[in-house]
Amino acid sequence: MLKGKTALVTGSTSGIGLGIARALARQGANIVVNGFGDVDGPKAQIEALGAKTAYHGADMSRPAEIADMMKFAAATFGQVDILVNNAGIQHVASVEEFPLDRWDAIIAINLSSAFHTTRLAIPAMRAANWGRIINVASAHGLVASPQKSAYVASKHGLVGFTKSVALETATTGVTCNAICPGWVLTPLVQKQIDDRAKREGISVEQAKRELLGEKEPSLQFTTPDELGELAVFFCSDAAKNVRGVAWTMDGGWTAQ
Ligand code: NAD
Repeated sequence: MLKGKTALVTGSTSGIGLGIARALARQGANIVVNGFGDVDGPKAQIEALGAKTAYHGADMSRPAEIADMMKFAAATFGQVDILVNNAGIQHVASVEEFPLDRWDAIIAINLSSAFHTTRLAIPAMRAANWGRIINVASAHGLVASPQKSAYVASKHGLVGFTKSVALETATTGVTCNAICPGWVLTPLVQKQIDDRAKREGISVEQAKRELLGEKEPSLQFTTPDELGELAVFFCSDAAKNVRGVAWTMDGGWTAQ
């Protein structure tokens, strides 16, 4: 379905971004991989599905590096047809104790980076009259939890940004939508589980059960592959009039 198209997925060396990159690769898209940590492993996983890949290590908190990555993607594959703004970080602390540098980093990586990639991707998408922008927000883009003021603010901001871009492109073949996962068992969440187990003196398994029980009625984690299939749907022709939504895959979290 996506043969000849190019997808740039920020933060695709791990977790949800890697799941989305794999799903788009299965549909035939070329993938521009971005993110920190091991690169060869994730790249090999995506290439094993028959996709061409290229890697750019831009730090999503640095607008100049983001601009360089967008140029690199266009130079390598012609243009970016599918942009997935996925890179994100978390920090858990009360608002009065929130470290200033963590606030700034969360807003920069989770929210402002999507502005920088999107503004640079849209001109070529408009010219081709086809494009898909998918922002990985969160259930925390729709509802809040304590101790996560920066994350919740960034994800609510990303949902709002999604709606504005969707309206600006509404009469074109470019769509912009957000995905709002509940709990997904990735390194970002594993850290919260480990911290909880330590804090409460309970096993990691018990901490996992408590985390799910608190928020997610299904008591199940969503998987990166399931989120990947939702991204594939957004890229399909059938989704051409899906615009500006914040689509949950959260086990009922935000239905409560
Ligand atoms: P993860 O930690 O497994 O992956 C995060 C990715 O972002 C990694 O590839 C990492 O290298 C990259 N990254 C981090 N900082 C970066 C930076 N400055 N520049 C470039 N890349 C950077 O986390 P994940 O759970 O897969 O999270 C992916 C997205 O999904 C995030 O936006 C997160 O907020 C969102 N999300 C996660 C969950 C969950 O339960 N895991 C739920 C809802 C939303």
